[in-house]
Amino acid sequence: MHILSFAIRTSLAGRLTTWYTGTSILLLTAATGLLYWALISELNRDGDLFFTDKVNVIRTILREQPRDREALREEVQLESAARTYDQFYIRLLDERGDVVMETPRMGQQLNSASFPDASPGPPFHGLSTTNKTGIPFGVLSTRVPVGNAGNVLWTMQIAVNRTQQRELLARYRHWLWSIWACAFVFCPLLGYRIATRGTRPLQRIGETARRISSQTLNERIDPAGYPVELATLAQVFNAMLDRLEDSFARLSQFSADLAHELRTPVNNIRGEAEVALARARSVDDYREVLGSCLEEAARLSQLISDLLFLARSENPGEHLRPQELPVLTIFSTVHDYFEANAAQQGVDLVIECDPALHAEVDRQLIQRAVGNLVANALAHSKRGGIVTLQASQDNGTLHVRVLDTGTGIPAEDLPRVFDRFYRVDRSRSPGSGGAGLGLAIVKGIVTLHHGTVSMKSNVSDGTSVTIRLPLVSRHRTGDMQEGLQNAIAR
Ligand code: ATP
Ligand code: MG
Repeated sequence: MHILSFAIRTSLAGRLTTWYTGTSILLLTAATGLLYWALISELNRDGDLFFTDKVNVIRTILREQPRDREALREEVQLESAARTYDQFYIRLLDERGDVVMETPRMGQQLNSASFPDASPGPPFHGLSTTNKTGIPFGVLSTRVPVGNAGNVLWTMQIAVNRTQQRELLARYRHWLWSIWACAFVFCPLLGYRIATRGTRPLQRIGETARRISSQTLNERIDPAGYPVELATLAQVFNAMLDRLEDSFARLSQFSADLAHELRTPVNNIRGEAEVALARARSVDDYREVLGSCLEEAARLSQLISDLLFLARSENPGEHLRPQELPVLTIFSTVHDYFEANAAQQGVDLVIECDPALHAEVDRQLIQRAVGNLVANALAHSKRGGIVTLQASQDNGTLHVRVLDTGTGIPAEDLPRVFDRFYRVDRSRSPGSGGAGLGLAIVKGIVTLHHGTVSMKSNVSDGTSVTIRLPLVSRHRTGDMQEGLQNAIAR
């Protein structure tokens, strides 16, 4: 019993079986109970019709031919005596209560005291009783007028043997119990079979999930032939595996790239030191080697601090020191920082920003993000190109955009440029750019600010990166003119 209740609580098939069995037996009980009740009602109705019929016949005879004893005998004695099933008995009592006529042997079955008081009717409703030997009867008693005057009233007692009816009901009940017992045995078996068949796809999903490890992330469930609900589950499961596989691939790529990025400066330092130590050198030579080693060490330390920053930026809410400031201030600081560089490259660095636009941001971080975007834009712009810092607002969102007219990014690389260490130039030669962390850092900073970042690029037109942040709108119209003039002046 304990094991059974444990199985019902823990197994889905057990629960489904219990529900199925319970519901089936409940429905069966209700249906058979209803049929049994309907059968009893039908039998009673038949019995009442019979009573009404007999009373009407006797009434007619007594009213129209009160002296015709033959007709009465025919009805009261002969007809009932000729009956084998559902034997009935009629007794007529005169106004003093003396028996005028009765069906033979009626006195042995039921005396006149066994009948109820005369009921008015029609319609007539017989009552149930049993005689002293235990035979069941339907009984009725009513007054019948004798002659047309209607002042003489006899009593008519009528009884129907209901043994046949009782046996019929007993047989019916027997059948019901048999059906009920079969249902009690077969419903759980059938229910269990249905439940295990229905949950088989779930088991298959479970088996697949159990088989999956980092080496077998390519496994998928084939939802063909599954019911809709489980096919959806299988598709959701497959989609989750797609994401896991992708994340895993990115993580592996990240580890490989990290190793590569760390190895290059370390190898350089080591190589230069080995070459320097191979023979005696001048102080200037040693100075040059040390300078070069320092450069590599600085690169290494920059890489490590970038990685640490990225790791920290994954803890939302941390390291943020938000302050409300005009977007133009951020742009100006970045502009000042890159101005000389841009001029040297022959690239125009332009600001287009409404000075009324304010943002609530961590100034250092946002400057770093915008700075990374400008650094990328400058790195991929040709002489004569334009790099624009643009800000606008739309539906409570601040859009900070860095546009360039540079080389652009091929469409197939776009979805991955925000990944750590991802560079369009896969050769990863040290001369061809940074470590590939700049955009990942931008994304980290924007996420910390509850914003989003996206990139559009086209190999012919250049690139535009948009940062979307929740807006702090302060329209200081007085400042606006001055700001616009500033913007145009740049
Ligand atoms: P880091 O920023 O770490 O010094 P990086 O600039 O190579 O290195 P990201 O800033 O993450 O790395 O950029 C990733 C890649 O996306 C770059 O290598 C470059 O190929 C491409 N890219 C980014 N911005 C632009 C741009 N404005 N125009 C063309 N290509 C770009
Ligand atoms: Mg960069």
